Amino acid sequence: MKIAVLVKEVPDAAVEKRIDPSTGRLDRAGEKNLNPYDQNAIEAAVQLKEGGAVPVEEIVAITMGPEGAERALHKAVSLGADRSVQLTDDAVAGSDVVATGYALAKLIERESPDLVLLGQQSDDGESYAIGAVVGEFLGFPALTQVSKFDVSGSTITAERQAEYGYDTVEVDLPAVISVSDAINEPRYPSLKAIMGAKKKPLEKVTIADAGIEADKVGAAGSKIECGNFTEPPKKAAGEIIEDEDTAATVEKIVAWLDERKLI
Ligand SMILES: Cc1cc2nc3c(=O)[nH]c(=O)nc-3n(C[C@H](O)[C@H](O)[C@H](O)COP(=O)(O)OP(=O)(O)OC[C@H]3O[C@@H](n4cnc5c(N)ncnc54)[C@H](O)[C@@H]3O)c2cc1C
Repeated sequence: MKIAVLVKEVPDAAVEKRIDPSTGRLDRAGEKNLNPYDQNAIEAAVQLKEGGAVPVEEIVAITMGPEGAERALHKAVSLGADRSVQLTDDAVAGSDVVATGYALAKLIERESPDLVLLGQQSDDGESYAIGAVVGEFLGFPALTQVSKFDVSGSTITAERQAEYGYDTVEVDLPAVISVSDAINEPRYPSLKAIMGAKKKPLEKVTIADAGIEADKVGAAGSKIECGNFTEPPKKAAGEIIEDEDTAATVEKIVAWLDERKLI
């Protein structure tokens, strides 16, 4: 079995998110990381390989992103992927969810995997949509919010988290599985794996290499147009109560909570 894992580089969660008013897009400058939810997808692939229920020959990490996004691929490899592929091309800048899903589907087609794994959401865009879009373009069954799955032969039995409990669903391979963050506890990479990651094969491809039609990606290929943006209102400063007299302090805190109907 061959597994493709989709991974994305995202701005560090600690960095305040800002829309660039000149482009209407998220300002992605500053510190970046591998999307934390994608670590669950890599871990699921590695556990499948280690588990031995089905032979896994290869785990390939795939990303679409600018030059620097190769850091996310190095991290993915240090966590257990065998090699990686990066689509990096000016033509894909400004792609919306459908255009991104189309481009990723074309990258996946080149690899012909039996299973495509991805995170439940990205930490920046948070559309929760790429799995379904990729599945649609590939014509594969796509399951989201999968918190447990088993592979037997060419069938996957998965538990999907739903509002009312769990759905147990069976699909045939090849399939796209978007894993929930409850599926596992991602491991930390070993120092040896971190050091070795840069030596593992990383293939950089352009849209031409992947047979991606230029008018289906980038701003031109995206149907979503973002309108006006406003900053969310700043939070009012909190009230600090100095504890000079504990009884009076308690009274003040109780009055504060009471005013807001919190007690
Ligand atoms: C008008 C518009 C312009 C945009 N311009 C840009 C731009 O210039 N640059 C840019 O980076 N984004 C841009 N975006 C955002 C981009 O469309 C989204 O990041 C993308 O569609 C994925 O959606 P998401 O991040 O919300 O993914 P979700 O659906 O929340 O992510 C689910 C999973 O999909 C996988 N995934 C998501 N994106 C990628 C990726 N790129 N490569 C590999 N795996 C992935 C990951 O496994 C992730 O965990 C733009 C969006 C809009 C609406």
